[in-house]
Amino acid sequence: MRHIAIIGSGPAGCYLADNVLRLLPDSSIDILERLPSPFGLIRYGVAPDHQGTKAVTRVLDRVLSRDRVSFFGNVEVGRDVGLDELMSLYDAVVLATGAERDRRLGIPGEGLLGVIGSGAFTGWYNSYPEHPAMHLQDVRSAVIIGNGNVAIDVVRVLAKGPAEMAGSDLSPEVMSILNAQPIETIHIVGRRGAADARFTEHELAELGTLQRARPVVVVPAGLVGQSAVVETLRRFAEDGRSTQVAINFHFNLTPIAFLGDERLSAVQFRSADGKTTELPARLAVTCIGYETVACGTASPANGVFPNEDGKIRDGLYVVGWAKRGPSGTIPTNRTEAQQLAQKIAQEVAGSDRPGRSALRQLFKERRVCWVDHAAWRRIDAAELARAGDGRCREKFSTIGEMLEAAQVGQNLSCPGARI
Ligand code: NAP
Repeated sequence: MRHIAIIGSGPAGCYLADNVLRLLPDSSIDILERLPSPFGLIRYGVAPDHQGTKAVTRVLDRVLSRDRVSFFGNVEVGRDVGLDELMSLYDAVVLATGAERDRRLGIPGEGLLGVIGSGAFTGWYNSYPEHPAMHLQDVRSAVIIGNGNVAIDVVRVLAKGPAEMAGSDLSPEVMSILNAQPIETIHIVGRRGAADARFTEHELAELGTLQRARPVVVVPAGLVGQSAVVETLRRFAEDGRSTQVAINFHFNLTPIAFLGDERLSAVQFRSADGKTTELPARLAVTCIGYETVACGTASPANGVFPNEDGKIRDGLYVVGWAKRGPSGTIPTNRTEAQQLAQKIAQEVAGSDRPGRSALRQLFKERRVCWVDHAAWRRIDAAELARAGDGRCREKFSTIGEMLEAAQVGQNLSCPGARI
């Protein structure tokens, strides 16, 4: 038997498990996850109104339910078990921990109230457990920095009215905070030109279909070049509708400062010709990418775990955003997982390492209360059952509520709840 531990249950970790299972009939795979729930960014990053994208969880859940796979949720490497300990128990350990920390712009005023990174903002609107409260106040104008798909998600969630969020899993609390904002203008600002924007055409085009908001290109003459994105923006520039909310596209503006006393009042930019421009805003969301953070004794450099084609050192591998940085869509992880699974199949031999049985024993001794796959299914069922009208799911927003729904205290595999 080859015992493999994967840390992280997002798409990178789950697709890797799937591929290792296919390639290695003698493998046993344990997936460790800090939260009681699996699926990482699918659950807490993908926007609540994109339930079609979130539906990939059905595929990933099938991986977790396979005989040779065990899910250990609510377990943190570095707190409940050391990375070195895991490496002594398993033939291979794979970091699939993503990139959770927001990159910073490093400009004055970044600490003002009302300035927030996209990871924190999307975590909030996706009900990430124990998330700090969001103090939005009288947001008439918001500035979204960055020209990638995350910026589009943030714009869309701010721009949509409550009726357009029907069928989503946006929580009632988040919905009421968003609805309380008298939002009129959302500025989306790129530091380069439209032809260099990283939006995908499909995501961008969706902004032209909203009910209460319309996209506006602030300087249509600046739309140079040919690409599907530029063509979509040209179509936007012809949209003469009048709507409650305007989504203003600005290009070639580099952010240089957030202005305000305690709370943000405006964002200052510099254009290519050296002129400065200020856009008023009570909210600024920086959507400029993410960095991975340490996992136990493994430390990242330049936002990723240094690796050679997914290998960090003998017995330790990395996959997904923790390996390559925050780029690529969900299917990117499938291809990458196939490649890493092949490498593991070639390089990792079976040994007398004990794997799962020793991990369970260690958790029992440490009174670690883990959530297995059946317990996760109970959380899932409870969230679906309490969804209410117009909502497909209502997530629990605290770890305590999740563990209660998981009924892990009654699970014989969990003798002493460490909650
Ligand atoms: P991204 O696509 O890399 O976009 C990041 C943006 O931030 C770029 O416009 C970049 O500009 C800008 N930026 C970086 N540093 C900056 C700075 N110092 N000042 C100003 N602007 C700066 O990243 P993302 O939007 O976070 O998305 C991450 C990945 O997830 C992408 O592959 C994305 O496609 C994917 N995703 C997909 C979906 C979907 O398919 N629905 C949804 C969300 C995310 P430069 O180009 O000039 O560097």
